Amino acid sequence: MSSIVRYQAEQIMLLEPATLLVVWVDGHESLYSHRSLRETCECASCVDEWTRKPILDPDSLPKNLRVVAVEPTGRYGLNLKFSDGHATGIWSLERLRETCPCPECEKGVS
Ligand SMILES: [Zn+2]
Ligand SMILES: [Zn+2]
Repeated sequence: MSSIVRYQAEQIMLLEPATLLVVWVDGHESLYSHRSLRETCECASCVDEWTRKPILDPDSLPKNLRVVAVEPTGRYGLNLKFSDGHATGIWSLERLRETCPCPECEKGVS
């Protein structure tokens, strides 16, 4: 299967409790907790642009943190807006697919 198809999302939905569902064009489904997405944000205010060191302290995030809006940006990216007001992070679909937390992907089966 070509990587172009692999990294295309068919459907993106916000589910309860605080979960983001991505259904990929090849039929695979990925579920991400909103908190884990926030913790892996790579925007300039979460990760130092030069050293790539994390600036964000996960302990400083509110307990009930959730994604309040998802907007496609560019052709292969998602801009996530969080309930703590953080809205500058971009998650590429490629990165989301590569970090799919399901047991199948964690084992490296594809
Ligand atoms: Zn960020
Ligand atoms: Zn997976």
